[in-house]
Amino acid sequence: MRKYDHYKTVPNLPFEIGNKTRKPKSIAVVDTGNCTGCQVCIPFCPVDCIEVDDYQNGNSPINPVVIRYDECIGCSICARVCTKLTWDAIHMLPISEFEEQFPEVEINNTFTKEEEITEIII
Ligand code: SF4
Ligand code: SF4
Repeated sequence: MRKYDHYKTVPNLPFEIGNKTRKPKSIAVVDTGNCTGCQVCIPFCPVDCIEVDDYQNGNSPINPVVIRYDECIGCSICARVCTKLTWDAIHMLPISEFEEQFPEVEINNTFTKEEEITEIII
């Protein structure tokens, strides 16, 4: 019988941290009340836009993670990692649905991290 590889769709950790170069088709949203705060998803994000939310504490004894939405490139790696390796607390929302649910969040076409902007100015 062929052995099933449960981790097949889990990608490797990114070598380099990138930036968003176009508006994504979908955005990752964390179900904060469902997140265990294990932080397993954080190092897999290729643009490093997942962080621990110090202000929320859903049902978990530790703080959940939160996505910096405007930096997300919609790759869905975090959702796959969460489902395959730990739990099921990240869902990908199509951009139109996201904008309807979070009208206060502006999603731009590109994003460059502040420290890089500072380096360019210097
Ligand atoms: S892997 Fe899932 S449960 Fe763990 S911190 Fe990330 S979103 Fe939360
Ligand atoms: S979808 Fe990709 S870019 Fe967005 S938070 Fe998840 S891993 Fe990061």
